[in-house]
Amino acid sequence: MTREGSDEKLSKVELIKEASVGLRGSIAAELADSATDRVEDATTKLLKFHGTYQQDDRDLRLSRRKEGLDKAYSFMVRNRIPGGKMTAAQFLGELDIADELGNGTIRITTRQSIQLHGVVKGNLWDVIHRINEIGLSTQSACGDVTRNVCCCPAPLRQDSLRDELQELSDQIAQFVRPRTGAYHEIWIRDLDTGESQQIDAVSESEPEPLYGNLYLPRKFKIGLALCDDNCIDVYDQDLGLLAVTEGDRLLGFNVLVGGGMGTTPSKKNCFPALAHRMAFVTREELFPVIAAIIMVQRDFGNREDRSQARMKYLIHNWGLPRFKAKVEEYLSQGEAYCNVPEGTVPRPLADPHRADVTGHDDHMGWHEQADGKWFLGLPIENGRVKDEGNLRLKTALRQLFSEHVPTARLTAQQNILLCDLDETQRPIIEQILAEHGVDTVGQISNVRRFSFACPALPTCGLAVTESERALPSVLSELEAELAEMGLAEEKFTIRMTGCPNGCARPYNADIGLVGRSVDGKTKEGKYTIFVGGNLIGTRLNVVYKDMVLRSEIVSELRPMLICFQENRKPGESLGDFCHRWGVESLPLSTDDRASAS
Ligand code: SF4
Repeated sequence: MTREGSDEKLSKVELIKEASVGLRGSIAAELADSATDRVEDATTKLLKFHGTYQQDDRDLRLSRRKEGLDKAYSFMVRNRIPGGKMTAAQFLGELDIADELGNGTIRITTRQSIQLHGVVKGNLWDVIHRINEIGLSTQSACGDVTRNVCCCPAPLRQDSLRDELQELSDQIAQFVRPRTGAYHEIWIRDLDTGESQQIDAVSESEPEPLYGNLYLPRKFKIGLALCDDNCIDVYDQDLGLLAVTEGDRLLGFNVLVGGGMGTTPSKKNCFPALAHRMAFVTREELFPVIAAIIMVQRDFGNREDRSQARMKYLIHNWGLPRFKAKVEEYLSQGEAYCNVPEGTVPRPLADPHRADVTGHDDHMGWHEQADGKWFLGLPIENGRVKDEGNLRLKTALRQLFSEHVPTARLTAQQNILLCDLDETQRPIIEQILAEHGVDTVGQISNVRRFSFACPALPTCGLAVTESERALPSVLSELEAELAEMGLAEEKFTIRMTGCPNGCARPYNADIGLVGRSVDGKTKEGKYTIFVGGNLIGTRLNVVYKDMVLRSEIVSELRPMLICFQENRKPGESLGDFCHRWGVESLPLSTDDRASAS
């Protein structure tokens, strides 16, 4: 018990974890119960550790209630795909599972993974089992553990460093993986025969040596980035590892701690945060330091109030020096956990190297790989792979992965890289995309290219407003406005979410649109507009205007865009301009800024 000697009152979720016997709870029994299409609340909490959330179709709630029916329950199933690396067979497998057992779409996530939606309870075991059969897993894709490890996915030419980081992301993913045998028992063993297929077996040693029986107080995110390419938003991670190099040689990592986007506006002690630069570590020192940081969050993170449980709040409450000192105190445990001699990591930890983030690349378009092959970065609007009208993206990807493309990588901007192609294949790849109405990067606007939204309605239980279904029309309106103003070539990010939880990382975008409420009469969503972040992800934005109706977002942005157009310095980006000008000095379409505090 990690809370020995503490009088902290554990939250309900902590008690569920404690009683779960290594995350088993009554999952297996409830899956076998065909009398109901839902699972109990405690099981919902435990299922997250197994990579799935119980949801319901919120579009249907009202009509079903009128008919006296219960909610239309289904499950979202999220994969764990370190660094976003997949084979063609795996991508096709995901499409097959979505078509046969889901809602026929897949969604590339902001953590380089894939989500399936609309899986009914009777199909949940098959879905997770089949994901394991194609060599992927859903374990710890959600829940109070280390989530999917992010890493720059681009296999770029003359850049072995990215390969090294990708390898490291796999090693870290394995290192932080829960050791409970529950996942294997429940999802991989054949329920009919009782035989263990050992497809994705992990050590079944229990209790958990890294996490303990309560696991972590909240989700924990790790990401690796390069200074000149922060495509994974390293400052948004609980633990960001920023590669420090000398020429092509990896010297080590700046360790960034305490990033996190979620917030609750009604609670003064909740806020989005960028990570703090804590230390520099060499490659050899890295794993004991990762273990020590996780152990400190495990032992001192808030387990009483989940809104205060992310590591950013521990660091905020303690201050960085105290947090760093505690990590140093835990290094012996980290070294023991890694089976390396005590003293492997120098104490005190070295100060961060001066290297910092300087750039961002979304890797769209054609690029030569390190091995002479080529990859095509293909923009996927909001990560949603589907066929709709003239846009037959799913069919195009099915054909490409069946006939031409051997591997893929998923990006943290919810796009896909089609990898390992011969240069001679470029015409046929482009032809197939064109035949299916799929635009490549030169065919979409910059503002659409750099924008994305969380799923929100109808599946997310926490959504206040639309997001994925709202952003495309907002962008269409904005595209027209930008073209008219001569700003179409500007590169800036717009990220929209359906609630303040921030799953699409809205708080360091040039423009963040965060769902806040719904108009009582029209049911139209109202959003907080944030401005002043930046493409490279190193600055939080601030409130420009609150409670803006979706239909008025672009007209509310217009005065700010005019001000930018008239007063920017040469080459200055939108976010940098807003930051320099001062968001409080930017003009509004109405002078009502009172609610924006
Ligand atoms: Fe749901 Fe809110 Fe996350 Fe969007 S940001 S997916 S609405 S929890």
